[in-house]
Amino acid sequence: MDGTSDDFDAIIIGAGIAGASAAYFLAERGMRDILILERETQPGYHATGRSAAVLVEFDLVRPILQLKLLGGRFLRHPPPGFSENPLLQQSGILILFQGPLWQEVLQMVPDLRQLGVRVHILDQEETVSRMPVVSPENFDGALLLPQDGHIDVNELLWSYLRQARARGARLRCNEEVVDITVERGRCAGVRTSSGAYRCQWVVNAAGAWAGKIRELIGPSPVQLTPHRRTMVTFKPSDGLDVQQWPLVADLSHDLYFSPESGGLMASPMDQDPMPPCDARPDELGVARTMERLKELAPRLVPRSIVHKWAGLRTFAPDQVMVVGEDPDVKGFFWLAGQGGAGIETSPAVGQIAADLIAEGRTDLVDAAIYSPARFK
Ligand SMILES: Cc1cc2nc3c(=O)[nH]c(=O)nc-3n(C[C@H](O)[C@H](O)[C@H](O)COP(=O)(O)OP(=O)(O)OC[C@H]3O[C@@H](n4cnc5c(N)ncnc54)[C@H](O)[C@@H]3O)c2cc1C
Repeated sequence: MDGTSDDFDAIIIGAGIAGASAAYFLAERGMRDILILERETQPGYHATGRSAAVLVEFDLVRPILQLKLLGGRFLRHPPPGFSENPLLQQSGILILFQGPLWQEVLQMVPDLRQLGVRVHILDQEETVSRMPVVSPENFDGALLLPQDGHIDVNELLWSYLRQARARGARLRCNEEVVDITVERGRCAGVRTSSGAYRCQWVVNAAGAWAGKIRELIGPSPVQLTPHRRTMVTFKPSDGLDVQQWPLVADLSHDLYFSPESGGLMASPMDQDPMPPCDARPDELGVARTMERLKELAPRLVPRSIVHKWAGLRTFAPDQVMVVGEDPDVKGFFWLAGQGGAGIETSPAVGQIAADLIAEGRTDLVDAAIYSPARFK
């Protein structure tokens, strides 16, 4: 691991949460010559900077739940000195369900508890007494996850980057990867808008563009689709103190809302597929948010919106992240398809990536479940 300035052990494409976490865990394992390349002027400009920023240790997709549980442990108890401020505010998550989904979820609860998740089952009445603004006809019951809540994404992202850089990793913004060099079936480096670098590993952490990055080499074995999600912020109506509220998600009618910077934030949980881009919110997403708020919590419908934005959540066809070496190109490592859980799972995914790159194996999970080879 004694490269020169243009010769790296690993080049990471993308300084979102995925690339930053991989840099941190690789540096932790002793890799020194790491270069993170980011096309934008700053890290976290795309999905990472636009998320709802919560840890929710509940998921219908089991391999994602497993990563969330591992991520939760790190967020609650990061290594000493890792961050300057707490990473997680345990403000709670309240998830409402109706009909057959509620019955299905109730059957999952013993399993969740066995996995170590603190979870309370609330009936309609208990839910309304905790969150009086919700109308009971929209749900049969709810799960309360009291130890989950809001993640300080900025703190997490910059702590990964700060720690990685303290161990020698370099970060270059304003530098776009435009080509990948492959020699004798193995990645040998990248070409960027400003130059060329050689390396042992190329880590594809390009978020919504991860499929495009692989296409620089040839047809991609993994089909990734970005999906737009809209968020709006607004002021709560007079007399409502929302600061201590949990995030409230209605999974049967696609809506969530939570406290945000003194006001409230809400999303209609839209997922419109689209090509990778600098996503912008559309009026339909905003209108849907208001319609659903009117059904679930009419008191919250605001007179005006303070702010709106959109970001891309990028999924593989089976909704499971793609972490592992490409089945056709040695030295090309996938760290993509983070979907709607890339922040909360980053401590697990970054560590798994570092394990696989450094040793070719990991004790954390069954790596085959996340491997890009599963699409062959
Ligand atoms: C509205 C919304 C709400 C969400 N809520 C949550 C939540 O509550 N909890 C949670 O855990 N997750 C949530 N997510 C998901 C989470 O934000 C993503 O899974 C995560 O940020 C993905 O991180 P990433 O690093 O893979 O992608 P990104 O943050 O998009 O980073 C990829 C980077 O690669 C760079 N790049 C691309 N191509 C190139 C190139 N050729 N050269 C150089 N750089 C390049 C891009 O500029 C970008 O900065 C949410 C997402 C959205 C949109």
